Amino acid sequence: MIVAEDVRKRFGSNEVLKGVSLRMAKGEVIAVIGPSGSGKSTFLRCLNHLETIDSGRIDIEGDTLVANDAQGQARYVTDAEVRRICARMGMVFQHFNLFPHLTVLENILAAPLTVKGMKRNEILPKAEELLRKVGLLDKRDAYPSRLSGGQKQRVAIARALAMEPDIMLFDEPTSALDPELTGEVLRTIRQLADEHMTMLVVTHEMGFAREVATRVAFMDGGELIESRPAAAFFAQPEHPRTRAFLESML
Ligand code: ATP
Ligand code: MG
Repeated sequence: MIVAEDVRKRFGSNEVLKGVSLRMAKGEVIAVIGPSGSGKSTFLRCLNHLETIDSGRIDIEGDTLVANDAQGQARYVTDAEVRRICARMGMVFQHFNLFPHLTVLENILAAPLTVKGMKRNEILPKAEELLRKVGLLDKRDAYPSRLSGGQKQRVAIARALAMEPDIMLFDEPTSALDPELTGEVLRTIRQLADEHMTMLVVTHEMGFAREVATRVAFMDGGELIESRPAAAFFAQPEHPRTRAFLESML
């Protein structure tokens, strides 16, 4: 479970998150949509401490990552705790970010070996199972440069899953892909949803949001405008800004 409460973040004079609150239960799949520059990526990055916040509170699976002190400033727990809490979240970016000098298999083994200190033979069966799951076992010894964008993204998903996260965060996982490669990545994410993985997915794919998300959250201008069950969200968006955005997407 993720609880974000009144999260604020500014870059210089630009207030990018203006008090964003979101509660996400176990097994939920939340699609985060909104115009470019509305703060979607920044919000995701704040959740797993790729960015620090100025004020507000973030709890991950019952552990407080950051809360306000008496002066209302954000205070993070100790570095060791931050690492432990953030290790529960896997993140997949728009641009894959695979290690180019490592094979597909080595990409998947890297974090469990170095971060978790696992033994190779401990993690190997799991890595192979994950590659089979994303349909890429036959590519285990290939280097990322020899893969299509969709294949790279599926490796990135398998790599994040290898750390056995409780929550997966996706930031526009398909927007760098040609349309014909988008489907294979969305299918992989849908499969995770069927297995009840808790996920927050920033996406421009409205069809995916409608069909896979349990809830859709709309961000605009650094605010979370509304967040509702997917069917209701699309059928009867409450806020005029949501309606205007959805109309612009047609
Ligand atoms: P997009 O749909 O284009 O990915 P987004 O909703 O993800 O947009 P963000 O990337 O979160 O938007 O950016 C929100 C605002 O914060 C933008 O005005 C952006 O310029 C600014 N911003 C983001 N990261 C930084 C940074 N590291 N330094 C300064 N400004 C930043
Ligand atoms: Mg973004």
